Amino acid sequence: MRNRLTPDQYANGILAGDRFLLSRAITLIESRRPDDQQLAQQVLTAVLTQTNNSPAKPSLRIGITGVPGVGKSTFIETLGKYLTSQGHQLAVLAVDPTSQRSGGSLLGDKTRMETLSLDPKAYIRPSPAGESLGGVAHRTRETMLLCEAAGFDIVLIETVGVGQSETVVHGMVDFFLLLMLAGAGDELQGMKRGIMELADMLAITKADGVNTAAAQRAQVDYQNALHLFPPTGTGWFPPVLTCSALTGTGIDDLWRAILDHQRLTTASGHHKQRRQEQQLAWFRALLQQTLDHRFYAQSGIRERLTTIEAQVRAGTLLPGSAVRELLG
Ligand code: GDP
Repeated sequence: MRNRLTPDQYANGILAGDRFLLSRAITLIESRRPDDQQLAQQVLTAVLTQTNNSPAKPSLRIGITGVPGVGKSTFIETLGKYLTSQGHQLAVLAVDPTSQRSGGSLLGDKTRMETLSLDPKAYIRPSPAGESLGGVAHRTRETMLLCEAAGFDIVLIETVGVGQSETVVHGMVDFFLLLMLAGAGDELQGMKRGIMELADMLAITKADGVNTAAAQRAQVDYQNALHLFPPTGTGWFPPVLTCSALTGTGIDDLWRAILDHQRLTTASGHHKQRRQEQQLAWFRALLQQTLDHRFYAQSGIRERLTTIEAQVRAGTLLPGSAVRELLG
């Protein structure tokens, strides 16, 4: 059952849209076995060599975040079905910092999006487990490249709006969408500010039934709050929309706004620039991770660190000398 295929066989299958081979290749990307990892890199290289020679229509990468309960999975189901009904091929990936720890994840598994997971034009892949956030980010980027090569023209990357994962996802997408709940006043004041500054759009979810008026009030509040932020420098002003994943209200407008952003940033060159900067940041983060990994993989390093740190703490060894001693 272990991989008996050559990198080119994988690559050709993926480029032909073979879901089974795509899934197997993603499993190689997520594997910790050195032989799997080596094969994964060969597959990626083979795929990218071919896609660089005959570039497909550029994909659209969208990050979606929001606190647990805001309605992310319901929203992705509704938006996803809307997009596949328009003929798009949609991949849904997740960056879930909690799935690294044992005992469950905040995003749950892919069975959440039950209808979408049965849609032949959609491909849903949960977050790889048991990794650092940096590791998850790296594998998600590689997975995204494979999905694009397999013909998915829209990639949604979902993450939870708690902690660092939204910054990580922001660093790998063309458009970053923040879902917000109406009536969550405290969030407007404090904790969401950092994330709000990253957002290309805010959408107030659950704008239906008795929630409709509250959602419209929240829309005005958030519009006012966004005015206080410095301009993005791209000529794009993040809009605040309302939508309901239950009724589908607002999904159309929301999608049109995402396409407007895409058109504007493509024409101005900001889209290309954002991707180039993301590539470079990816490289730098990976280099850093690899250096860290190599350093800590040295035999006896933990013991040496313990001794040296004790000396530094006691003031008998200067930090500069300690570093030279460790690396020298
Ligand atoms: P997640 O934790 O962000 O993925 O949120 P879920 O998609 O699981 O939704 C959380 C709860 O909100 C569920 O009980 C949903 O049924 C409900 N919900 C999601 N979207 C809507 C909506 O558009 N309108 C209403 N009224 N409820 C919604």
